[in-house]
Amino acid sequence: MEKHEERAHALLSASGAHRWIECTPSAVLESKFPDTTSDAAREGTLAHELCEVKLTHVLYGKDTERAHEWIMQQELYQKEMEEHSDRYVEEIRELEGSFKLKPFIAIESRLDLSAYIPGGFGTGDCIMIGDRKLVIVDFKYGKGVPVYAENNPQLMLYALGAYQKYRMLYNFDVIEMKIVQPRLNLFPDWTCSLDELLAFGETVKEKAAVAIRGEGEFHPGDWCRFCRAKATCRARADYSIQLAFAADKDPALLSYEEVGEYLRKGEHVASWLSDLKEYALRACLEGKEITGWKAVHGRSVRAFDDVDAAFRDAIKAGVEEALLYERRPLTLSKVEKMMGKKAFGETLGSHVVRPPGKPTLVEASDPREAITDTVTPEEAFQ
Ligand code: SF4
Repeated sequence: MEKHEERAHALLSASGAHRWIECTPSAVLESKFPDTTSDAAREGTLAHELCEVKLTHVLYGKDTERAHEWIMQQELYQKEMEEHSDRYVEEIRELEGSFKLKPFIAIESRLDLSAYIPGGFGTGDCIMIGDRKLVIVDFKYGKGVPVYAENNPQLMLYALGAYQKYRMLYNFDVIEMKIVQPRLNLFPDWTCSLDELLAFGETVKEKAAVAIRGEGEFHPGDWCRFCRAKATCRARADYSIQLAFAADKDPALLSYEEVGEYLRKGEHVASWLSDLKEYALRACLEGKEITGWKAVHGRSVRAFDDVDAAFRDAIKAGVEEALLYERRPLTLSKVEKMMGKKAFGETLGSHVVRPPGKPTLVEASDPREAITDTVTPEEAFQ
């Protein structure tokens, strides 16, 4: 029979903590769906391995060349992983240098979380201790969703695990948590006191006890995004429908406040609708019947089956070869990739400008600075 603790660990992962803390019955509901992994997740694991290899070399002077070569031979390896793992190492070096005395550093450290989640454990990418401070660094390779450090339950759980592991050896009363998400150029950090961290630990303990029994109220929100039940969860569907159609006010025009509110609500509805469509399409393709819907082939664009053969025939028919090709300059990133970062910076650095990006609407909590100059939309979009 499956042991209680093994079952708890399988259900209550640290990476899913935000979800099962906010929506305690989600963990048991999710277990009804297969736990599939994606190429993006496997890519993330490989990028983590590369970070570990580089950090081991830089911090402990070990020869990691063979491990590095092995990573480069993997199918999911991308050249850009080098740049992002270098940035991670740079951030760690910078943090290390911010301590008055050389800190204790542990990398890829297994952390026992069982004081909070039965049988729970996790892996801390990098832990530093010194100056009465505990620092938890987490590397994120994804670029789809920005991850923030403030009140981040996964990082706080790792901090609790590190506290349990090192509290006999070190004293600390400040906890710093840092995310390194180089593909989004995001490096947020957040600090809390040990007391705040321990209070969070007590909350987690209570939530985990409820979640493992599949009890509590369903509570839809941002955390639904990675829930395996997200497409057919009734609570999320009801919530989204309510958000979409609950127009209880009847003004002729929306106020700015209402525009903001509807945009926020609309994000939830749009995300739920897209998940539902993806689920229904997959079901139709598997031969299931979704009442009133079917799968068809989308608009298709004409293409040559073999470009070289087609162009040979065109040339034979009298078309000048030069007319069949366009001469286009490489993009800045491609030139940089070709020349290498250093040579690019030295030779072409003075030619690089960074014009402001196209105006984008984001929630006020986004860390980027708001555009404050008043411009007409036409000027802004130019
Ligand atoms: S989809 Fe959202 S509301 Fe439904 S179980 Fe998952 S987290 Fe909870």
